[in-house]
Amino acid sequence: MDFAISEKMQTILEMVNEFVDKELIPLEPEFVKRGFREMLPVLREKQEKVRRMELWAPNFPKECGGMGLSLVEHGLLSEALGRTPIGHYVFWCQAPDAGNVEILHLHGTPEQKEKYLKPLVAGKIRSCFAMTEVDLPGSNPVLLDTTAVKDGDDYVINGHKWYTTAADGADFAIVMAVTNPEAPVYLNASMIIVPTNTPGFNRIRNIPVMGHEGEDYFSHAEILFQSCRVPRSNLLGPEGHGFVIAQERLGPGRIHHCMRWLGICKRAFELMCRRANSRIITRDGKPLASRQIIQAWVAECAAEIAAARLMTLYTAWRIDTEGAKAARNDISMIKFTVANTMQRVVDRALQVHGGLGMTDDTILAFYYRHERASRIYDGADEVHKASLAKRILQQYPASSRPNLYQPRER
Ligand SMILES: Cc1cc2nc3c(=O)[nH]c(=O)nc-3n(C[C@H](O)[C@H](O)[C@H](O)COP(=O)(O)OP(=O)(O)OC[C@H]3O[C@@H](n4cnc5c(N)ncnc54)[C@H](O)[C@@H]3O)c2cc1C
Repeated sequence: MDFAISEKMQTILEMVNEFVDKELIPLEPEFVKRGFREMLPVLREKQEKVRRMELWAPNFPKECGGMGLSLVEHGLLSEALGRTPIGHYVFWCQAPDAGNVEILHLHGTPEQKEKYLKPLVAGKIRSCFAMTEVDLPGSNPVLLDTTAVKDGDDYVINGHKWYTTAADGADFAIVMAVTNPEAPVYLNASMIIVPTNTPGFNRIRNIPVMGHEGEDYFSHAEILFQSCRVPRSNLLGPEGHGFVIAQERLGPGRIHHCMRWLGICKRAFELMCRRANSRIITRDGKPLASRQIIQAWVAECAAEIAAARLMTLYTAWRIDTEGAKAARNDISMIKFTVANTMQRVVDRALQVHGGLGMTDDTILAFYYRHERASRIYDGADEVHKASLAKRILQQYPASSRPNLYQPRER
């Protein structure tokens, strides 16, 4: 196991941290108040600076125009970018585009790569990923109602999706639909590229989430596919392999999320410590930090963040060296551990800020609202816990005399 950072990576991290502090964090009050779309011109200016710094698309393969960082390296960068909600977008390594790039890179045809992958990595277009359906449990994604029926050279798609993140303003969606209803359940669905201007791709609304509909990249859409016709050449990967590919997509994606959440932890922790030291709570000038309960929170948060960080780096290292399948248990563990660590840290930081924490005068309330979803998307905590526990328990078969020592022979 080796998490040593190369000199080059150390320099990159320093550059990114400085950029986040000086160029992005100062934009946050306006971003929270005015919304994403109004901020786009200034975000694009920042993106140009990132290109000039040669830090564009850090996790995307070199041959597609990215920096080709390893998972551990990108994890560290993702942590630095997670300190602000706009970090990943400005450096062009945001979900769901990051996952879609991976799929297109691994499974796209040369034509698909030319038409969708190249401009996506270059930041000329955006994409989204439509799997979850309104009427069926996303926790068991093999239950799918959306169909793609072959008709001549086309697929005709019908279905009702929601929570398609960033569909507003996206140029294409990767859509999961049943193409082979007679096949075994894990082999009956496919991924299909659907340009969002195709007739029958109907974005009904951006779903209000925690009081905000959002817009453009910062939104989650409900989409009705009504006889939406696309050429069969838009099939991504082999027909019927949608779930197999989705599994591949989620492994590295969870490292990206977890490291981003650790960046949020770091930011919330910094804010908490500064506030604890500067908020005077007695006539004789004692700060909040003088109280043991606050000290306990500081110590607990520091330890929890350190533990979650090591678990995540270890998982990234295992994926880099042994592949996502070998790291299955680790991936499940970090998904629910880091999401819960982040929520506890943000919650305590908000509590330390008192009434100020509830306002939008710090970034804490934004994180509190928007990151609650971390325990639901990419597999709800409970689903990860159940499947992890099943795999662990399989290693301990029941015996007729559980846990008793064998009687000694005399
Ligand atoms: C902010 C956000 C962004 C999202 N982005 C996307 C996206 O871009 N594309 C996309 O396709 N989807 C996206 N999703 C959808 C997400 O993947 C689903 O919400 C998730 O898979 C859960 O599915 P569900 O909402 O249907 O909940 P359900 O499956 O109905 O589950 C509800 C709850 O039941 C419990 N539960 C479910 N199954 C079990 C079980 N087996 N054992 C114990 N408890 C269980 C869990 O607590 C779970 O939270 C997003 C969701 C959110 C909130």
